[in-house]
Amino acid sequence: MTTPHHDSTCPSSHFSSSPFLSWAIILGLITGLICGEALFRYFQGVVPSEITSTCEFIGNTLFINLLKMILVPLVASSVVVGICSIGSPSELGKIGILASVFYISTMLMAATVGVLLVVTIAPGVGIGDTAGSSSVSSHIQSAGEHATGGLWMALQNISSHLIPANPLKAATEGDLLSVISVSILLGTALLVLGDSGRSVRNLFESLFAISMLVISWILHLAPVGIFFLVTWTVARIGLASLLGPLSKYVMTVTLGLGIHGLLLLPLLYFLATQTNPFAFLAKMRNALLTAFTTDSSSATLPVSIRTAEDKGGVSSYVARFILPLGATINMDGTALYEAVAVIFLFQCYGIELHTLQLAIIVITATLAAVGAAGIPSAGLVTMAIVIEAVNQSLGLQGDAALPLSAAALILGIDRIMDMMRTTVNVWGDLVGAKIIDTLLYRRVSVQPKEIV
Ligand code: ASP
Repeated sequence: MTTPHHDSTCPSSHFSSSPFLSWAIILGLITGLICGEALFRYFQGVVPSEITSTCEFIGNTLFINLLKMILVPLVASSVVVGICSIGSPSELGKIGILASVFYISTMLMAATVGVLLVVTIAPGVGIGDTAGSSSVSSHIQSAGEHATGGLWMALQNISSHLIPANPLKAATEGDLLSVISVSILLGTALLVLGDSGRSVRNLFESLFAISMLVISWILHLAPVGIFFLVTWTVARIGLASLLGPLSKYVMTVTLGLGIHGLLLLPLLYFLATQTNPFAFLAKMRNALLTAFTTDSSSATLPVSIRTAEDKGGVSSYVARFILPLGATINMDGTALYEAVAVIFLFQCYGIELHTLQLAIIVITATLAAVGAAGIPSAGLVTMAIVIEAVNQSLGLQGDAALPLSAAALILGIDRIMDMMRTTVNVWGDLVGAKIIDTLLYRRVSVQPKEIV
């Protein structure tokens, strides 16, 4: 078995591996929760827009922009450098096949858990069709316009991103799926070319080193950014919104994410690595907390790569190739969430679903999750594909069909649901990277020193 060679393009960051950062992030999260809830109660649910917009500007605009700013160069260089360090096209093929099998099977598994729970708990039964159509946001409506065709549409959506007509345009628009597919092509070509492609490879290695250095600077600001993000989220809706008529729905999603994230993924981790999955989970806390607070797998990617390499003992060549791929296409939490949410909405509208529709939901929720970008609320938008597929399979049209506006019912609490599903998305990526690394190279106890 060939073992890819290590490189030393990743600058080490003392700050990112210090316990100070974890504690500061946790502090930012907790104080954000307290401040947000205090503001919500003090102003009785109508927090002045000056306060919310200031929190939004600092957390959701400045901090998230800082993370996003570095994404395209990071993803492109990380994938190219990762592929080049893998050493041979056959090795690359092995990693690619293993990653695809892992991603698809865990997403199907997550969607199945969601379906089983929501059918058993039936959180939508008895809520009635209270979903007003007026408040639905326009982005869900417009997603719905493109959703006609269900399964076929889901596949078309994914393939059109995989083969961009203009890669540079895709990069400037931040279309990460396109950036990844072009980087895979470029990296593979460089791998095959060997020494004749050395100068371009050096360029990407430098770009990767620069990106990682900048990220370690940005990470210093994470606790402050997270504080404002969480304050903004909670001040607008209050924690009690999770306990109202939607509490059974919130519980179903939370239980499903808990079963998948704390039972099934750890079980797979243990079977593959024979080590303690919860020790790995604790080491990954910076990435998981960032996912929880930013609602974005993509924005978390810089932290995921850093944490997986520095603390998780994941080989650099696997982390750099697999994690960008995972952040963009592997979304266990989103697949589970979409399955639960769609069945919940059908239950609210009193439309009965049979085994065929449940099977369609598992498959389309998985494809819709693959197609969802790693950004806040992407799962809510691609959910239109799943609703459309079920309406079609039941032959429902016009007034008889479940309207896309039904999603208005769960729109208000989506940001908090998104925090949880994004954390499971990122956890799935990290577990996948460690399992693939272990299965291919049996590097269970790689020391960080070896990697950096
Ligand atoms: N926010 C999720 C993510 O970035 C996607 C979603 O909305 O489900 O992973």
